[in-house]
Amino acid sequence: MRPHLFGLLADALAAHLLANGVAVRDAEARRVLAHVVAHGRAGFPASRPVPRHVEEAVNRLTDREPLEIVERALDPSDGFVKYLFRLRDGALVEAVRIPLEAPGRFTVCLSSQAGCAMGCTFCATGRLGLTRHLEPWEIVAQFVAVRDEAPGAVTGAVFQGQGEPLHNYANVLHAAEVLAHPCGGRISAKAITISTVGLVPAILKLADECKPYRLIVSLTSAIDARRRELLPAASAWPVDVLADAIRAYQRATGGRITIALVVLGGINTGSDEVAALRRLFDGVPLRLNLIDVNDTREDGYRRATDAELARFRDELRTLDVPVVRRYSGGAARHAACGMLAAMRSARDSASSSATAALTSSSVAMDATTARGA
Ligand code: SF4
Repeated sequence: MRPHLFGLLADALAAHLLANGVAVRDAEARRVLAHVVAHGRAGFPASRPVPRHVEEAVNRLTDREPLEIVERALDPSDGFVKYLFRLRDGALVEAVRIPLEAPGRFTVCLSSQAGCAMGCTFCATGRLGLTRHLEPWEIVAQFVAVRDEAPGAVTGAVFQGQGEPLHNYANVLHAAEVLAHPCGGRISAKAITISTVGLVPAILKLADECKPYRLIVSLTSAIDARRRELLPAASAWPVDVLADAIRAYQRATGGRITIALVVLGGINTGSDEVAALRRLFDGVPLRLNLIDVNDTREDGYRRATDAELARFRDELRTLDVPVVRRYSGGAARHAACGMLAAMRSARDSASSSATAALTSSSVAMDATTARGA
């Protein structure tokens, strides 16, 4: 098997080459990875960074083909660019280049799975179901592809695309390590954010391992019965148990934990939610992110009205924690996670069926989205 360079750290590359009879020094392995992953160079130049025999061994024994980019969708109103990638087995995943406030700087939203098993009722990816976990290299390859086309510096990554990152724990943590490595993605570990719907054992494992990454927990409802309806898989753990895990993570790592609430008009914007949050997180340094739902189904969830949202925010402020309304960019053209993949798979199956009568516009009408994790 030829491992992909995007998924390797220097010691693993050196060990793989040695196992195939080629001894390389650590510094040489680091130079190969810096050349290919950190600097995104496809081939080795005439002034090669490593001896010829190392270059030949790397060419013969490893893979460095990029992912196929099927589509790019730019939203000119906000500069978000959504990428749709086809993996080698045909699965489709998305990443998004997100402009940061500082001009010329970007972060990349990455997918960790093809589809998702969590089935959150407001999420397009949840409706796709889980196809499979992504390998570390497939995650890093999304980052590299987006970074290499960015008109500026990519300085962060957020695991908030398709999939529940902590359901693919080992591969996501491995990819994060590569992204933060000077010979890999070269971004600060503190600029890597892992977002979860609240898989308690995985949060406790992260706390134990004391990883330096930022954590966002998509709570959406602090009330058990409501959360069970909205996030069925994540509700395997009652909110009290989840709150205990969040406290443990906060104690282990310090700093504030971000709790995300996907705001569903008429459903989770009442005083009962504020009271439940107060009870669960009294004394825990939190930050609350409010995310507008983005569901284009006719009978889907609706956004909160301005008045409803203003009242909810005012009540949340009585908790004495920062409350930020997060911009879910790109909504106009391509919306949030799962939409591009849902559109493309529907279009592909339409074109492969002799009787299919789907048009891309009718697919777009069906494609639904909103993303919490
Ligand atoms: S919101 Fe996140 S965890 Fe829930 S179904 Fe969508 S991708 Fe999966």
